[in-house]
Amino acid sequence: MFPNPSRPLVSAPAETAVLALLLAEGPLSRVELARRTGLSSTAVTKAAKPLIEDGYLFELPPERTAPGAGRPVNPLAVSPDREFFVGVKISADTLYGAVCDLRAQVRTTAGRPLGDRGPEAVCALLAELVTELLAADPAYRPRTRHLGIAVSGDVDRPAGRVRYSVLPGWRDVPFADMAAAATGLTVTLENDVKALTAAEHWFGEGIGTEYFALVTIGAGIGSGLVVNGRPIAGAHGVAGELGHIGVDPNGPRCHCGSVGCVEAIASTDAVLGAIRRASDRPDLDFAAAVRAARAGDRIARDAFARAGRAIGVGIANLVNLIGPERVVVTGEGLDTYDLLDTHILHSYAAHCFGAAQCPLILRPLPWEEWARGAAVVGIQALLP
Ligand SMILES: [Zn+2]
Repeated sequence: MFPNPSRPLVSAPAETAVLALLLAEGPLSRVELARRTGLSSTAVTKAAKPLIEDGYLFELPPERTAPGAGRPVNPLAVSPDREFFVGVKISADTLYGAVCDLRAQVRTTAGRPLGDRGPEAVCALLAELVTELLAADPAYRPRTRHLGIAVSGDVDRPAGRVRYSVLPGWRDVPFADMAAAATGLTVTLENDVKALTAAEHWFGEGIGTEYFALVTIGAGIGSGLVVNGRPIAGAHGVAGELGHIGVDPNGPRCHCGSVGCVEAIASTDAVLGAIRRASDRPDLDFAAAVRAARAGDRIARDAFARAGRAIGVGIANLVNLIGPERVVVTGEGLDTYDLLDTHILHSYAAHCFGAAQCPLILRPLPWEEWARGAAVVGIQALLP
C-alpha cells in the first residue's frame, strides 16, 4: 500500500510546504500555492508530482477563475483516505482513541477505562484499543502506520519518553518504544496540551496564524504556544507552563514546589480545597461546591472569583510575552465558566499591555478532540 515504507513520504522542504498548506486549508491552485509558499510555480509543480504519484494529492476538475481569465486551472487537493492515523489520549482514568484521516477528520472512536495505571498495563490496554479501532473498517489497517499518543506531564517527544506524569509509576518511561513494539506502528509521543494545540493550529481556530495560544483550565492549567507558525517546545521540552506562572507571592503552595502558581489557586482541586478550608467542610465535593457557588454562597463564589482572577492574569502574561492573534480557552473547567468568566475577563483586560490584548475564544472540546490531537501529532510526523 505504501510504495516504499522506508522512504519518508515527504523528503524535500518544498514538498513539506505544499502538503502542509493543502492539509490545513483544502484545495488550492498551483498559482495560489506558489504565492502562499513563496516557491516558484515550477518548484510547486515539481514538489506536487511525487505526492500525486503516491496518491496523497489529486487534481480537481478544472475551474475557470473568471470569465475570460484564460486557461482553466486544476486545483490540487489532499486525498483524505490515502492514509489513516490513530490517536490515543491517556487520561487519568481512561484511554480515548480515534482513527483520523489525512485531513484530521475523526472517522472512528473508542475508549477503554483504565484499571492498573502502570506503564506496562496501560501499554497492553492501548494495544487492544488500537486493534479494535483498526478493525472498524477494512481500509484502516493497510493504510495506517502512524500512532500518536498524548499524555499529560513532562514528555520528551524526540526521545519518546515520559519523564514525569501524574500517573503512578510513570517516571522516565520509554513509552513510544513500548507502544511501537506492542502495536507495530510508528509512534510519536507528545504532551497532551501540545498535541491539542497542534490540532487547533492546523485544523481549528488557529489555522493560518503565526502567533497562537491554547489554554486549558480544569484539573490542571496549561497552555500550548505557536510562534512564527511553529509550536514551541522549548530548549528542555518545557514551555508554556501557564499553570506555574506565579501570580501571588503570598499565595498557596503549589505541588511543583513553588508558591502562588496559577494552578495552585485555580485548578479544580485548588478551588475545592479553598472552599473546604474556608467553610470548614472537609467532606465537600466539587459538584456540591459548584452548586453552592451558583446558589450564591459567598465563600464558594469568592474561591471561584479568585481562581478566575489568577487565570486572567496568567493569560495576560502569556499574551504580553508572545502577542498571539487569538487565544483558545478549553478544558473541563469550561463546565464552571459561568462562575469564572467575568473575573477572568476583567483581570485579563487589566493586565494586558496595549495592543497585545487579543480575543479569547471559548472552545469546549470533548475527549475525542484530545484523541484527534494525538492523531494530528502522527500526521505531523509525516512532515519532517
Ligand atoms: Zn506550580
